[in-house]
Amino acid sequence: MQQISVLFPTPLGCYDYMCSEELSPGTFVLAPFGRKKMMGVVWDRAPNTHLDKSKIKEIFEVLPYQSLPLETISFVNWVSAYTLAPLGAVLKMALLTEFDKESKKPLAFNVPNPKYKTLSFSDSQLAAVEQISDQISNGFSVSLLDGVTGSGKTEVYFEAIAKAIEQGGQTLVLLPEITLTTAWLERFEKRFGTKPALWHSGVTQKQRRDTWQAILKGEAKVIVGARSALFLPYEKLDLIIVDEEHDQSFKQEDGVLYQARDMAVVRAKIANCPIVLASATPSIETYCNVLQGKYYHIELLERFSGAVLPDIRLVDMRQKEKGPVRFISPELQKLIEENLQKKEQTLLFLNRRGYAPLMLCRSCGERIKCPHCAAFLVEHKKRNILQCHHCGYIRRIPKECPTCGQAETLVACGPGVERIHEEAASLFPTAKLCMVTSDTLNNPKEFSVLLEKIKNNEIDILIGTQILAKGHHFSNLTLVGVIDADMGLSGGDLRAGERTFQLLHQVTGRAGREQKKGTAVLQTYVPENLVIQSLQNNDRQTFMEQEIMTREMLQMPPFGQLAAMILSGKNEQSVVDTAKKIVASAPFLEGFDVLGPTPAPIALLRGKFRYRLLIKAQKDVKMQNILTCWMNKVIIPSNVSLRIDINPYSFF
Ligand code: ADP
Ligand code: ZN
Repeated sequence: MQQISVLFPTPLGCYDYMCSEELSPGTFVLAPFGRKKMMGVVWDRAPNTHLDKSKIKEIFEVLPYQSLPLETISFVNWVSAYTLAPLGAVLKMALLTEFDKESKKPLAFNVPNPKYKTLSFSDSQLAAVEQISDQISNGFSVSLLDGVTGSGKTEVYFEAIAKAIEQGGQTLVLLPEITLTTAWLERFEKRFGTKPALWHSGVTQKQRRDTWQAILKGEAKVIVGARSALFLPYEKLDLIIVDEEHDQSFKQEDGVLYQARDMAVVRAKIANCPIVLASATPSIETYCNVLQGKYYHIELLERFSGAVLPDIRLVDMRQKEKGPVRFISPELQKLIEENLQKKEQTLLFLNRRGYAPLMLCRSCGERIKCPHCAAFLVEHKKRNILQCHHCGYIRRIPKECPTCGQAETLVACGPGVERIHEEAASLFPTAKLCMVTSDTLNNPKEFSVLLEKIKNNEIDILIGTQILAKGHHFSNLTLVGVIDADMGLSGGDLRAGERTFQLLHQVTGRAGREQKKGTAVLQTYVPENLVIQSLQNNDRQTFMEQEIMTREMLQMPPFGQLAAMILSGKNEQSVVDTAKKIVASAPFLEGFDVLGPTPAPIALLRGKFRYRLLIKAQKDVKMQNILTCWMNKVIIPSNVSLRIDINPYSFF
């Protein structure tokens, strides 16, 4: 009898079992788990020699499935050690939910043809293609593919994929979910003559099963997916691409809290293969790695078509007279009118759904809140509802103020896209308008229909949230109006400036992507702000330098490490007491500071009270080890839940 270590796809660690034969790590087994039978994976952990062998249970059977690759096992171990999530919770992300079912007619995965349709590249593109291709089959390396939108980054990394296919290896392309559109897939098909394998929240169970198997067998050569595709069981991974690497949606904010871009670098290291991070506005983290010489820097300096970047104008909203509330300034209005006359398209951008972010009673001053969250309800006028954008709570718009009972005293404060739509409709009565948000558009099909309409000039003015900002190419769109350029700048978020710069750079870049020069207008109350200035001067360099200097001075990531602890529960006193207990048992160590507890900015969410601690550690401190020892000393009561977020991106 052999003693083996088995891991199950549940949020726990490994368990020991006995087995009549020696099993190598990755073997699937069926074993008793509590009173149930559960499928698990033989893990690469040394068995626990302190256990009494006679008391260890025996596994039921060895399952006849192909083993999980060793690289996948190493990756699961790594992610668990870094994020402090239980091993089994990470394993769960690497496995299918329905293992036993087998497809009668599995999907076929054609090998993409690297020579299907090749392009002739410009000189600077050629140089980039060469640099990237040189990395393939040369072991682990990280490259930043850095170029403005439209410079041909996608075409360039397609060449690297072509080379990986020629060598028979697999390529993983990670895209933010929102960019995973039919447009990208069509381009891939045009270049390689067949579709890639797809992995995101929208694929069906059967597709999932077939894709997972095809990846394990090495039949699927190119896999395109959202962050969860990182955990698939690649047989021979030769290349990873992370497109829009700066995108914040790569950070998973529930379950296992991981940053997919960072973990992709780890995955490449385990596979000993190159990884390419592509962006027009690289993250500070990535850029610092370039400056320190850890990552290669591959630059594409011009737009391929020769199109120039838009002219960016600021409208100083402080100078506006107090009149009736208006969100589209006269300057912007005039530009829109001219654009309508030229029969060119306009995009009005505001990253806020609904009609107004707040309803206020003019009589008693009451601001209508969500009963379950410390947040105001957002008015959605068309649907006649107030909605909480945190928990989804909905109520009808009341006729009277719920507090003082007076009728007709409730007023909408501030704009959402619906309100901008209303204002644009009254300012430009003959124009064809279209509002686009995640409320109105939620699947790729609808998106394709919309893109077709835009292409056929059936729309004059688009009004939308960030759903429109990313990755699309509208050839007749020459004017972009940003209604509230300052929106993302406030709040104590470490990355507020960076994120605003990236988003607005991307949005304004929608203007004038072909021969027609575009114009973008930023409406702002802080025209002297570094972010706004850098955008106007198209001066990414200065912005990055300043931002990096500030982070270094404050010892913030990537110059120091952060971890957040979020405690929540229905009983506020328990939450507070637990938070205090945790702080009281904190270790005193050089370069390791514990800040808090403080009520979270959203101190009540879905009926639970929330408190936060922030841990700040110097770069060389082994933060995870310290946190693990520390947490082993405290007992968290069952009515309080604790989440640890290593390198947090959200601070609410
Ligand atoms: P990015 O990914 O940097 O935004 P793309 O790869 O999408 O840039 O290129 C922008 C547009 O220019 C696309 O329509 C692309 O097909 C086209 N393009 C880029 N390079 C070439 C080339 N060498 N030959 C023909 N078209 C190109
Ligand atoms: Zn709520």
